[in-house]
Amino acid sequence: MGIPLASEARLASLQGRIPTIATLCSHSSLQIFHGARVEGFPTLGLCVGPPPKFYDAFPLARPDQFLSVPTVKDLPGATQRLRDAGAIIVPHGSFVEYLGPEAFSAMDVPVFGNRAVLGWESDRRKERDWLESAGVRMPKLYEDPNEITGPVIVKYYGAKGGKGFFLAKNREALADFRPTGPYVIQEYVLGTRYYMHFFYSPIADGGYRLRHGALELLGMDRRDEANIDELYKLGAQEELIRAGIRPTFVVTGNVPVILRESLLPRAFEIAAKIIDRSVELFGGMVGPFCLEGIMTEDFEFKVFEISSRIVAGTNLFISGSPYSDLVAPGLSTGRRIAREVAQARAQNRLAEVLS
Ligand code: ATP
Repeated sequence: MGIPLASEARLASLQGRIPTIATLCSHSSLQIFHGARVEGFPTLGLCVGPPPKFYDAFPLARPDQFLSVPTVKDLPGATQRLRDAGAIIVPHGSFVEYLGPEAFSAMDVPVFGNRAVLGWESDRRKERDWLESAGVRMPKLYEDPNEITGPVIVKYYGAKGGKGFFLAKNREALADFRPTGPYVIQEYVLGTRYYMHFFYSPIADGGYRLRHGALELLGMDRRDEANIDELYKLGAQEELIRAGIRPTFVVTGNVPVILRESLLPRAFEIAAKIIDRSVELFGGMVGPFCLEGIMTEDFEFKVFEISSRIVAGTNLFISGSPYSDLVAPGLSTGRRIAREVAQARAQNRLAEVLS
């Protein structure tokens, strides 16, 4: 047996019944419901106000039932109804962001994955401690602007979609920078971005083995970001900034990518180190996660962020990806989550994949 994340009391609502897979109707919920349905689970859509009409357009992904609340903040008040329904909540980015990591963590309903990861991921300093202590390369942080030796990106804390991020080619270009809030100055890594979708199972006993369990790569995407991705068409950034046009990094879509095959071993090594360290620090980051980073021309992958749950880029691969096709046919990340619940249940190990 591995590390139990959930107490018996937390799992009492699942005793002797087939669990219902529940999530907030947003982000990657269509994929989560679709995957759960394919694996034979009932599904429950949590929605604010009436059920979203666009679900009617996707009958294979429409949840069996909806649970409506007046606002997102009312979701914790629905805890008893969720337990009565035998729900397992699958977190996604919008769910955690709208509710807030603390309120999400406090919900007394079984959650897929280890909710302890939220405290590590939502605090940029703790996230850096975790990844760097795992031996992962991250973009350098400059405490003293005089030490800057190349291009930098200035990130304000909590800048959603990188609004107000500031790019500077060198130290001199930062001379006129007047901060408007708390920020960090980070090395701007030159290279190509990759968002790698992994899945860590603490109960798997085959595949790419780790100290505990196994790691799978289920897909990879690159995000379309407005307005930075098309800004070059208007000319040099300095001129644009003088004209009052600032770069933003608001994700508007995703495109599929693959990595040179010779770089895959590196990708797995990095992901494995992060998982092994997460097991030491907080019992393990269970289930889907995404490594967001930049591959340099020297084939060094520098991770600027980790998302510790299903990411919206996986929506590209509802019927499989060039990677997941080599694990099992038609395996989306949503389906992989449902399959993990089914396997853990069959082995009486739900406490290791739920919290
Ligand atoms: P938060 O996750 O706190 O809401 P965010 O997602 O808006 O922040 P990041 O994910 O840190 O911000 O970065 C947004 C985008 O900026 C990235 O997708 C990438 O395009 C670019 N970027 C971030 N850090 C770097 C870096 N060190 N070097 C080059 N580009 C970067």
